[in-house]
Amino acid sequence: MPVVIALLNAFSGLAAALVGFVLGHQVLVVSGCLVGASGLILTWIMCRAMNRSLLRVLFGQLGAAAATLTDDGRRAQPISPEAAFYLLEAAQSVVFVPGYGMAVAQAQHVVQELANLLAERGAEVAYAVHPVAGRMPGHMNVLLAEANVPYEQLLELEEINAWLPRVDLCLVIGASDIVNPDARSNAHSPLYGMPMIDADKARTVIVLKRSLGQGFAGVDNPLFVAENTRMLLGDARQSLQALIRELKAA
Ligand code: NDP
Repeated sequence: MPVVIALLNAFSGLAAALVGFVLGHQVLVVSGCLVGASGLILTWIMCRAMNRSLLRVLFGQLGAAAATLTDDGRRAQPISPEAAFYLLEAAQSVVFVPGYGMAVAQAQHVVQELANLLAERGAEVAYAVHPVAGRMPGHMNVLLAEANVPYEQLLELEEINAWLPRVDLCLVIGASDIVNPDARSNAHSPLYGMPMIDADKARTVIVLKRSLGQGFAGVDNPLFVAENTRMLLGDARQSLQALIRELKAA
């Protein structure tokens, strides 16, 4: 979807440039070319981020190979805010992975409040920003900037994936597709080959979402039933507020 939007945007610029040629209007030609070129560059960058050719992005199918979460008898392990507090309290390094659910819950300000509380307690804090997290290009960057998250705490894919195996706690806030380990290891998954945030490699993972439901791609996520994952079920903002209350009461 983001690629389609960027491509259509590019086409609108190119169409404007063509109209400019026909009318002999130089300003229209130049501005149309700028819009067209920037749209094409963004399309190319997003295809690269998904490790897909443009044709595969446009005509490939998602959601066809959904597996059941309990195929091998594994079950998700729920956690309460009270129990999650102990994990937060003990963590020396915490990575937040924001996804579309953070936008739905409008939880960016509470995420930042929690991050500040943890930093004040001496934890190293960072945010992992996936290029297609959310529902539009730069969605997470905009929301985190709105919450005044310091720019240097936002880490990109390669940087965060190199660090995650040494991270104590990874908090996934309303995300699914961008942290799906099947993209790495399951050749039958429609997400296979796409660059993902390796949240599952952190020592402990807490996923904040309302259910075990799927994300935009319509595929199940083995991260939710992984040994080192705990599911903090509920609206992301309310769950984060509960965690903040626990930390402040301690
Ligand atoms: P996903 O759509 O994969 O997952 C979002 C999750 O948020 C859902 O599984 C949902 O689970 C949870 N959620 C929704 N509301 C809440 C809430 N109030 N509180 C807590 N959790 C909530 O999002 P990702 O960001 O992980 O991945 C983005 C996906 O969107 C990718 O597949 C990408 O290709 C696609 N996309 C990206 C665009 C872009 O430009 N960035 C544009 C269009 C699509 P539950 O219902 O259980 O709570």
